[in-house]
Amino acid sequence: MECRNCNAKAVMANPSLCRKHFISYFEKKVLATIRTFCLFSKKDRICVAVSGGKDSMSLLFLLRKYFIHVSAAVVDEGIFGYREHTLSHVKKKCAEWNVSLHVVSFKEMTGKTLDEHMLLKEHPCTVCGKLRREMLNACVKDHDVLALGHNLDDEAQTVLMNLFACKDDLAKAQLPRSESRGQFARRVKPFCMMKEKEVMLYAVLNSLAPPFVECPYMRKSLRNDVRDALNEFEKDHPGTKVNVFARHLAIYG
Ligand code: SF4
Repeated sequence: MECRNCNAKAVMANPSLCRKHFISYFEKKVLATIRTFCLFSKKDRICVAVSGGKDSMSLLFLLRKYFIHVSAAVVDEGIFGYREHTLSHVKKKCAEWNVSLHVVSFKEMTGKTLDEHMLLKEHPCTVCGKLRREMLNACVKDHDVLALGHNLDDEAQTVLMNLFACKDDLAKAQLPRSESRGQFARRVKPFCMMKEKEVMLYAVLNSLAPPFVECPYMRKSLRNDVRDALNEFEKDHPGTKVNVFARHLAIYG
């Protein structure tokens, strides 16, 4: 299959684009999202919340290409067999790109790693999500904006998770741009219109894909079940994820 814009071999089917034109398509679409939702400007000091995964590392890579004041923050939850690998990947890439990196850890801030918190029998993702939000907010005090690598698939999953749990207040707040509130910085999601497979391809083409290590608590999460169900549905009904998030934005945006 050939690229629709030149004779080169396509790396993607729909739209059919070669490496060069796919990267250009991807970056233009992200920059258009930033403009459409007024996420930030060239003057803003942007902190990218990185986990070491394909989404956040691609976001950091792309933003430092187009914006001046870009730094990164990573939370070390203390998850044995997982975080030590991704943390070393983040440190290596930030050093290579000359990006300032702020590392905060559950152990330092709460006296316990996430693994130790789990001895209290709470749900890992609930504890993890809450603590991580608080710590990232503490990291961005000197910044104008906290940028998250959530992609379209993540957003469609979150819409359904909030719906299933009747969390109307969280649904209203699930937007590409959330204003700063009190101690909480403005939070933005420049990848919210990009499909997960597009972000994966962008990461692979730019040699950003990390070694695959999955959080051991992932399989216990509601998100995991919703992701599997949505992926199955998308196979038979292409466009479902785009429609779910578009409908959400039409209601709350
Ligand atoms: S899967 Fe759950 S526990 Fe693991 S990093 Fe994500 S939110 Fe934290």
